[in-house]
Amino acid sequence: MSNREIPYKIYLEENEMPKQWYNLRADMKTKPAPLLNPGTGAPMTADELSHVFCEDLVAQELDNDTAYFDIPEEILSFYKMYRPSPLVRAYCLEKALGTPAKIYYKFEGNNTSGSHKLNSAIAQAYYAKKQGLKGVTTETGAGQWGTALSMACAYLGLDCKVYMVKVSYEQKPFRREVMRTYGASVVPSPSMDTEVGKKILAEHPGTTGSLGCAISEAVEVATTHEGYRYVLGSVLNQVLLHQSVIGLEAKAALDKYDIKPDVIIGCAGGGSNLGGLIAPFMRDKLLGKADYRIIAVEPASCPSFTRGVFAYDFCDTGKICPLAKMYTLGSGFIPAPNHAGGLRFHGMSTTLSQLYHDGYMEAVSVEQTKVFEAAEKFARIEGILPAPESSHAIKVAIDMAEECKKTGEEKTIVFGLTGTGYFDLVAYEKFHNGEMTDYIPTDDELSQSIATLPKV
Ligand SMILES: *Cc1c(COP(=O)(O)O)cnc(C)c1O
Repeated sequence: MSNREIPYKIYLEENEMPKQWYNLRADMKTKPAPLLNPGTGAPMTADELSHVFCEDLVAQELDNDTAYFDIPEEILSFYKMYRPSPLVRAYCLEKALGTPAKIYYKFEGNNTSGSHKLNSAIAQAYYAKKQGLKGVTTETGAGQWGTALSMACAYLGLDCKVYMVKVSYEQKPFRREVMRTYGASVVPSPSMDTEVGKKILAEHPGTTGSLGCAISEAVEVATTHEGYRYVLGSVLNQVLLHQSVIGLEAKAALDKYDIKPDVIIGCAGGGSNLGGLIAPFMRDKLLGKADYRIIAVEPASCPSFTRGVFAYDFCDTGKICPLAKMYTLGSGFIPAPNHAGGLRFHGMSTTLSQLYHDGYMEAVSVEQTKVFEAAEKFARIEGILPAPESSHAIKVAIDMAEECKKTGEEKTIVFGLTGTGYFDLVAYEKFHNGEMTDYIPTDDELSQSIATLPKV
């Protein structure tokens, strides 16, 4: 098929949209290692998990065998308010780069929350509502998850309490106001609201907080308040399951025009957008039906895949959550305060960790000034103001397209453009003023935080 027949934006018809989520674990030969009870070291049971998470979500979390889950009708109709998301052919970018590569991006920023996080937020809020709960608690780093969850909770009439990493709370006051507009209560973390928050503040006065710390607080509040459960916006298997809608749509759109990608690129914080985007492609790979290069891009300031270790670790700073076997920098790792965007979690999805460990995907890390250069270039050429997180994928896609220019290869590159950057303008400002710096943790710093891994 010639290029001209491929539209700028490939949209699916409503009846072509996925009606089921795809569970990648079902097709993995080596399954991700189970979550462990930090007290006993035994795999977490559904019963134990149900004190923290909603029942249906626990079932999804533990299910390594069911390949497809029906998307409930109410979630499907919510999805229809902002999905399908477009798969965009980056004709302008290709032209500007003078590359023979064909570049596509799946754009998840076309909803008010501004990112892919809404795909899982609505699912998690739906199951909380179905269970008859009063509300949910959560953490948020850069703020996109908290925003998405607030929207979903407002839609379903659930209470929503958000613990927001203090540095983001201060850098992004407008994020907070969006969440409050949707009815959520937002607390900077660490706070004096919780036992774990008090403890962390006593040990590290003046800390700017971390995701791991905000998670501990949100879990504590959920488990000590009747009618509340905790929900998490990334990392967990259930979140990757919901996010598979991204990849299923992308694959259906590509198949519609008979396009076979060579490379699929996504940014990786906790792994949910990447896990969702690659899900059906990884299925082909696992079943030996097709091969693709799959690349995770992470910040050089928080390099879980590229410099972490594959081991059991805590998901939170307070060490109250289950242990997960993943690529990790240690639960005490806190990225330098000059790290601007999200992608600041010390660990990684257990599913993606296993796939990476087994050689099914690659990972690279990039420095934030390079990421912002790519973001600015992309904004000027393609018009979209990208989120800093998404711009990690943009950076590597552009590098690869430039490489194709040298070699003359006509690679087809697909990347995930996870969201927009309207609330990241303080970081853009720093970049424009030449005040942005790159901080790469030293080997010493990493070995110190890795030394605190639990012995399992
Ligand atoms: C949260 C977020 C990410 C990173 O999270 P993953 O779970 O790794 O996908 C990336 N991009 C945007 C816009 C986000 O909001």
